[in-house]
Amino acid sequence: MEKPVVVRFAPSPTGPLHIGGVRTCLYNYLFARQHGGKLLFRIEDTDSQRFVPGAEQYILDSFKWLGIEFDEGVGFGGDHGPYRQSERRDIYKKYVKVLLDSGKAYYAFDTKEELDAARAATPNFQYDASTRGNMRNSISLGMEEAQRLIDNGENYVVRFRIEPGEEVLVNDLIRGEVRINSSILDDKVLYKSADELPTYHMANIVDDHLMEVTHVIRGEEWLPSSPLHVLLYRAFGWEAPQFAHLPLLLAPEGNGKLSKRDGDKYGFPVFPLLWNVPGTDTTYSGYRECGYLPEAVVNFLALLGWNPGNDQDFMTMDEMISLFDLAKCSKNGAHFDIKRLLWFNHHYLQECDEQMLVDTLKTQIAEHGADAKSDEYVKTVVQMMKERINLPQELWEQCNFFFAAPTEFDEKSLKKWWKPEAPKYVSELCDFLEAQDDWTGETLEPKVMEWIASKEYKTGAVMNAFRVTLVGAARGPQIFAITDMLGREESLRRARKAVETL
Ligand code: GLU
Repeated sequence: MEKPVVVRFAPSPTGPLHIGGVRTCLYNYLFARQHGGKLLFRIEDTDSQRFVPGAEQYILDSFKWLGIEFDEGVGFGGDHGPYRQSERRDIYKKYVKVLLDSGKAYYAFDTKEELDAARAATPNFQYDASTRGNMRNSISLGMEEAQRLIDNGENYVVRFRIEPGEEVLVNDLIRGEVRINSSILDDKVLYKSADELPTYHMANIVDDHLMEVTHVIRGEEWLPSSPLHVLLYRAFGWEAPQFAHLPLLLAPEGNGKLSKRDGDKYGFPVFPLLWNVPGTDTTYSGYRECGYLPEAVVNFLALLGWNPGNDQDFMTMDEMISLFDLAKCSKNGAHFDIKRLLWFNHHYLQECDEQMLVDTLKTQIAEHGADAKSDEYVKTVVQMMKERINLPQELWEQCNFFFAAPTEFDEKSLKKWWKPEAPKYVSELCDFLEAQDDWTGETLEPKVMEWIASKEYKTGAVMNAFRVTLVGAARGPQIFAITDMLGREESLRRARKAVETL
């Protein structure tokens, strides 16, 4: 019988969760759900030097916002805990001993100075079968001497004894077969007595085994570690999980990885939520606070490195779950394209809870000291204008003229439409409009058109000049939709005032 699918997301809490990590977790989630399996959340905090307080909670909050759910792990419980590696020291010690006892690992006592000296003496020095005899370890010194040093309290590390000349095969579900020769690998450190903690490699594979992980889906940056991991599984006599290394997320231009500096450089967030660097004033912006919708971020990320092969852009989580396929993931890095994310956001804003947009606009109106009139009015404006925005933050910029008369006029629009005849057109139009009883846009429009024709004016010249007086620029929705909203008094007041001042 096939083992049930178990995948994991295993971040190190070294700071805010990078958007590349979000994608990795999303793919794990889609894969788990598609196979009716489980997704585990494990914290890999064996590097105490790089531990950042708050990072773990930040990661949990991010996935909650994004709608990606875990089945087991830190914050969720389960039968394979604890799920924080710093709480699993005894487990790792036991397995380090297993390797030591079987001769597949050994103690090494070389100090930093000794290692530096070896590196200086031999170009491309590698601690391996060809050099370990010249170093200070339990193989060169003998076990008795090693034990004496340990009893004396000397610091040591445990190294993996890699036999040269073995073929290592990593069967990657995205990259196919990756073959290497074990001779190129060094005797990796698995454990350090100084902090009584295993290194990433040791803890990672012990946990994946004990947590019954069947598929390791992770970023391409971990591909070079996987032959070592395969050898470790072999040393324990354990079956290795299936690997799938996801393509890199690249900066918008060039071949570099998307970094947090790119966010600053190109002016978009690279983190899901706002992050305050602990103990400093430095903050990094987050998608949530910038007005991106979780559905948009998820949909966009899903397609950065995978596509279902059917030209479909917009997908619900359920559709993604049923369509997702590791075999259709690309081997090549995917360029981050903020315009595309904005396009997704635009799409999802059209279907989102309108009240959120109403509230955003109301806040902006208050911030600008303008008059919201009524909830109904704000709601109508949102309905009229939301198709013009990619982010809720753009509402005020697009809609301000519904709430406040223009105080500034766009220069380009003036140059184009505020020609010497414009004041005459607009005041004559005002006189005409003033005489109309029915001010609904529908009735007004044909009458105004008729009037312009009777005067033999150009429609564009009259109506755009009028528009500029109401909006402050030659933009916005249909002009009679604007007069409808502003009403007779306000429309005429703005137009007459502009004629006087412009
Ligand atoms: N702790 C590693 C990370 O931060 C996990 C790598 C893996 O998935 O094996 O990404």
